[in-house]
Amino acid sequence: MSPQKKLQDWYQIHKRDLPFRKKKQAYPIWVSEVMLQQTRVNAMLPLYESFMNRFPTPESLASAEEEEVLAYWKGLGYYSRARNLRKAAIFLVQNYNGSFPKDLNLVLKLPGIGNYTARAILSIAYDLPFAVLDGNVKRVLSRYFGYSENILGSKADFDLQQKADGFLNKDYPGDHNQAMMELGATLCLPESPKCLLCPLSKSCYARIHQMTGEIPLRVKEKKQIQLSAEILVFDSTDKILLVKEPKMRFLKDMFHLPYGFMGEIPEETYEPTPFFLALKEWCPSPLSVGKFKHTITHHKMEFFVHRQSLKERTQIETLAKNFGVESKWVPLSSLDSEFPSSLASKVKKFLLY
Ligand code: SF4
Repeated sequence: MSPQKKLQDWYQIHKRDLPFRKKKQAYPIWVSEVMLQQTRVNAMLPLYESFMNRFPTPESLASAEEEEVLAYWKGLGYYSRARNLRKAAIFLVQNYNGSFPKDLNLVLKLPGIGNYTARAILSIAYDLPFAVLDGNVKRVLSRYFGYSENILGSKADFDLQQKADGFLNKDYPGDHNQAMMELGATLCLPESPKCLLCPLSKSCYARIHQMTGEIPLRVKEKKQIQLSAEILVFDSTDKILLVKEPKMRFLKDMFHLPYGFMGEIPEETYEPTPFFLALKEWCPSPLSVGKFKHTITHHKMEFFVHRQSLKERTQIETLAKNFGVESKWVPLSSLDSEFPSSLASKVKKFLLY
């Protein structure tokens, strides 16, 4: 027996008796799928019932005031879902006589409907051959096929959608999709999957190779950190001051323009150095000459460039020495080579006038 047939048989026995699955109608399936995006079935059911009693058709939803629709959404949160649902209902009434189009690309144009919801509606309501991919299905597929790459991100979405499409039971796409989601929610659990009860266990790669702990692999990308910084350009007789500060978070191994982070600092290592703070105190109102954006790994930064011309260099050199900071003066023309970072060329643009 094919794994798809085993899954189908398992689903017929284990499927839950849910009101929106009773009839194969796009509207109740759509409403239920949108509600389920952020809410668990048990919490959503009573709210679903009252919503459907008040708005039983796309026409009734389309003709209601937004405030009333939002009132019936109370308890579900994420109110933009309700607004989009109403907007899409209006669109359906105006363009498709209130019925749901059977074309994936047309459905994807409706407000608030993404790939998952569109595929779920079309397969469950119309038995069209579109495989769904949600978090549960991704877990089942990655284990079943032994997909050992990171499942977070667009590459995995693409790869696993292909596997989902290939694995789809084209005779019963709606049941198949629901079975995959149900399997992920009840047996193929993130921790301790119940493989002994699973209809796919005989041909499941992760079960056979005892890799359910390793698959799926979830590697989160580092969180982006937003930073603002000031960069100080001191010039004296056509030369620019560069410093080397071993305590800096970035650029500590090279001579660079003095800079320091300001505003909201995420952690101690980004704090401006005592030398930079002393520089600012010594030169409290330099001229603002521009700003630019710069990225280093997961850091998104905005640099504000300030300039100060100095008549003599001794004071600032002494200040640097007092803080154990090396300093040197370089011609503006060789700033890029003396300070070999793209920061140098970005700053230089503001200095050539
Ligand atoms: S056999 Fe186990 S790991 Fe494989 S799909 Fe079933 S529950 Fe998931």
